[in-house]
Amino acid sequence: MVIYPATLASAFKAVECQIIQHVSDNQARLLITSEGLQALIDALAGRGYQVLGPAVRDGAIVYDTIARVADLPAGWTDHQEAGRYRLERRNDGALFGFAVGPQSWKRFLHPPVETLWTMRRDGAAVAISSAATTTPKLAFLGVRACEIHAIAVQDRVLRDGPYPDTAYAMRRQDAFIVAVNCGQAGGTCFCVSMQTGPKANSGFDLALTELVDGDSHHFLVEVGSEAGAELLERVPHHPATDAHRAAAEAVIARTASQMGRSLETDGIKELLQSNPDHPRWDDVAQRCLACGNCTMVCPTCFCTTVEDHTDLIGNSAERVRMWDSCFTMDFSYLHGGSVRSTARSRYRQWMTHKLASWFDQFGTSGCVGCGRCITWCPVGIDITQEAAAIRSTSTAAKGDQNGGS
Ligand code: SF4
Ligand code: SF4
Repeated sequence: MVIYPATLASAFKAVECQIIQHVSDNQARLLITSEGLQALIDALAGRGYQVLGPAVRDGAIVYDTIARVADLPAGWTDHQEAGRYRLERRNDGALFGFAVGPQSWKRFLHPPVETLWTMRRDGAAVAISSAATTTPKLAFLGVRACEIHAIAVQDRVLRDGPYPDTAYAMRRQDAFIVAVNCGQAGGTCFCVSMQTGPKANSGFDLALTELVDGDSHHFLVEVGSEAGAELLERVPHHPATDAHRAAAEAVIARTASQMGRSLETDGIKELLQSNPDHPRWDDVAQRCLACGNCTMVCPTCFCTTVEDHTDLIGNSAERVRMWDSCFTMDFSYLHGGSVRSTARSRYRQWMTHKLASWFDQFGTSGCVGCGRCITWCPVGIDITQEAAAIRSTSTAAKGDQNGGS
């Protein structure tokens, strides 16, 4: 930690305030180029962040370490439908011209496998080390609006709930979020229905809107935090014109009009909670493989299990936490058997939790409309279609709340 003499510290603070004021005054009126984006990545790396962003790997766009703009998926887009995902070339060099892929930021904030503690025995001495007390500083580049909402959902469970997860809270505290407003909706997106996108309105340090027009390639930048303002001041930028702002608004409006799916949310909590015996649950059970893909790709699912591993001579042991799914038989296994022994009851549990009882637990929907569970379901089961089918044939009383409260 650097200690400044009182006067120098005051002067430093004053300069810092001017920087932030300058950037704030120009909020949403700044432009950076691809070179500016590289400077932004460099500035984050220079501050000790591991910069993570989208990259093409094995025929999909996933999140990986990003060192250069060239690591981003320039000129790629994705075609998504129920049970289908395919990368295609774009006719421009857009860096973020695709929707969300199979991974979400959950894999970094709430990793799929995490060691909670380890034990080593040396003679009579037993040493137990608990979970990580330090975590890497992560910078997420290209976070979509629905994903910011998904992170907020996980914050309520893993950071702000009655049983906070220390490692999650540490990762979250240090995370730097560079949002990207979506320039193209996927075929399974329905963020407009869930009021979670396509524009990021809060929860970011910086937000970019990509503007590609012939040879002109810029990013309109919006500042969301002091950390974002401070970083941006160290990145070459210039003022945006009204035309740039209008172009950015047009990008977001066009994306909003492209939603591949929609979900009627009026009274959905009451609709699902009053239909536990609807025949549609039998129908979906005929199709559902109970594979759990939908829960693995979902950015808000947070369920885990633990396993204890020991060596054969009892000198070491560790407890490992792993993502789990409400679609496995073991998940609801209590003494005597599994509480939810059929695909019908497991799908009903998952969907009713997402769209209904999540409101009772956490005050919001558990679904942010990212569409991943539709795209990555091997048999193309579509949560929006299942909800619509129940709504259209429900004879149970329908509530009058907007998504429940
Ligand atoms: S809904 Fe689809 S992805 Fe989810 S468990 Fe069933 S078959 Fe697998
Ligand atoms: S339930 Fe499906 S659409 Fe909703 S947040 Fe999860 S993966 Fe996305």
